[in-house]
Amino acid sequence: MKAVRGIKQMVAAAKIIKAKGKTVGFVPTMGALHEAHLGLIRRAQRDNDFTVVSIFVNPAQFAPAEDFKKYPRDIKGDARLCKKEGVDILFCPTVKEMYPEDFSSFVEVKGLSGVLCGKSRPGHFRGVATIVTKLFNIVSPDVAYFGQKDAQQALIIKRLVRDLNLPVKIKVLPIIRDKDGLALSSRNRYLSGAERKDASVLFSALKLARGLVNKGIRDPREIVRRVSGLIKTKKKARIDYVSVVDLGNFGPVKKIKDNCLIALAVWLGETRLIDNIIISGKRN
Ligand code: AMP
Repeated sequence: MKAVRGIKQMVAAAKIIKAKGKTVGFVPTMGALHEAHLGLIRRAQRDNDFTVVSIFVNPAQFAPAEDFKKYPRDIKGDARLCKKEGVDILFCPTVKEMYPEDFSSFVEVKGLSGVLCGKSRPGHFRGVATIVTKLFNIVSPDVAYFGQKDAQQALIIKRLVRDLNLPVKIKVLPIIRDKDGLALSSRNRYLSGAERKDASVLFSALKLARGLVNKGIRDPREIVRRVSGLIKTKKKARIDYVSVVDLGNFGPVKKIKDNCLIALAVWLGETRLIDNIIISGKRN
């Protein structure tokens, strides 16, 4: 495995691969890698000649009061995992090179960035869209892999790629969960024992929603009410949002139909976790 820090070196390495007519699969991450990241990496390897993984904790997607400083970083452990998985290039740029002092250009995906997580984290998706565009320009991937856990991020990136004609295919892979259903996340490391226990309510709440739809409930307000009620039974949990939206554009839905997303964000103490499921008006 080749470890690359400089942007120029990464661009040059990608150019060599492309000159040979080989394909590049790309997995952008913020590190503290877990089994879900490894799933994206394995899929990228299966589909492509070369796999590039990036690790970059992107300051532009954190608000000043958020956890940029304390976000888990374990570059040595991550590098070991990537090597073991047979990753070809591990790209870990510096903040200084990615965002020079006079950096002044941002990518904004309007509309989609203003709902759900975008409401509670203003500027977050501008940071995401900007870093992903930069990484795509540097790595020149044929295919880039993202997780459905960050459903809004995935839709925003698909829209960005379409709107700006970026020459990359986006693949979104299903959510990987722990035994009790909690979606894997680097932020799960923040949780205390009691918070971790209560965190399983996120998936229980989504399963409850699925059950209600299967029983014939079609009113999203009723689903949000019941789901919120269940989450509130946990002492450590505080709801940021519970929403039912159209999977295609994240707009509001009046009645549950095919391709709805039930999405939620819940605080467990100081840690904000997200999760979602896709629901169809037919049986789920
Ligand atoms: P992150 O390092 O948290 O920015 O995540 C990097 C990529 O892994 C993103 O595309 C995430 O959506 C994806 N990912 C993180 N956790 C999960 C999970 N539990 N299931 C599926 N994909 C995930």
